[in-house]
Amino acid sequence: MAACLGLLIVALLVAAPCPAQDETSVAPLPVFEFHSGFWLNLHHTLYRQARLQRSSSPASNVAAVGPGMGNLTPAEQRLWSSALAFYSRTYADKDLTVSLEMILIKNQLGDFETCDDLAGLKKRSCDAGLPDKLTEMLDSVAPVYRAHLWPEHDRANRRWIAAVAPLVRRNGLDLSHRLAEIYQTPWPKERIRVDVTAYASSTGAYTTLDPLRVTISATDARNQGAEALEVLFHEASHGIADTVEDAIFRECRQRDKPIPRDLWHALLFYTTGEIIRPLALEPASSVPASGSSGYVPYAVREGLYKRGWEDYLRILTQYWQPYLDGRVDFSDAIAHMVSAL
Ligand SMILES: [Zn+2]
Repeated sequence: MAACLGLLIVALLVAAPCPAQDETSVAPLPVFEFHSGFWLNLHHTLYRQARLQRSSSPASNVAAVGPGMGNLTPAEQRLWSSALAFYSRTYADKDLTVSLEMILIKNQLGDFETCDDLAGLKKRSCDAGLPDKLTEMLDSVAPVYRAHLWPEHDRANRRWIAAVAPLVRRNGLDLSHRLAEIYQTPWPKERIRVDVTAYASSTGAYTTLDPLRVTISATDARNQGAEALEVLFHEASHGIADTVEDAIFRECRQRDKPIPRDLWHALLFYTTGEIIRPLALEPASSVPASGSSGYVPYAVREGLYKRGWEDYLRILTQYWQPYLDGRVDFSDAIAHMVSAL
């Protein structure tokens, strides 16, 4: 039931008044289904502002007020402040990406994105079944968000979707097949839901499993241009790369070695970067190369390998790359990596 309420497919989104992308009146995108949902955006906005407000830095306190929130009426200000105080008490210490409570709330708010209220006052099927206090807070503050911030957030989300849609349309299926082959795991049959939000955790994007859903920030500088495609496929890889974690675990056990923290995650970054990179070199590519040296993968651009992953980059280049090139098989590549640590 929730799913049928919640569906707002990208065809609708890109058909909305957005920068022209020639994406209107065409078939739904492959691989991903993008959503710009009101409630999830409101929830993340309150969560972020509650966290910022508690920070001691004056700069972040200014940011916590947020553009568009400077002209609230006193009544609106009271509602917003009390919702922020509630989020600060209840959720600000919880991690969006690992707290089961936060994950369940996120999924539920996504599923009920088309509802006018979450208590089911106007439509019984819109009773989202969330904790009473949360429902009350979100419903009370919704008109404030809708009037002052949501139009700007929704526009940014739709603009981001319209920009990435042609890349997904052109490269999405090939990339999904390639990643499924690399991780030796079938790609999900259903399109993967991607919730596009103004804010999406400190990393700019995150993925939750069972069901596999990606949340990505439309305004985060790390998620723009061709890089958006890499971030999307990195995130989706979280849903199909258990084979890597399992194989690393097995090899370590056999060799009585400690399990290298985050090697599997470095491998995901490396792999997505390497399969996106050649697209930027194709003639008439829709993936623009950044600078004269071609496409720069996310982990290089954001300096991840320089922050404790230097050894990982070395063994990935030496032992995982040959697997990507088809010169060794999966188990041998993992075994070589683990023995080289
Ligand atoms: Zn990741």
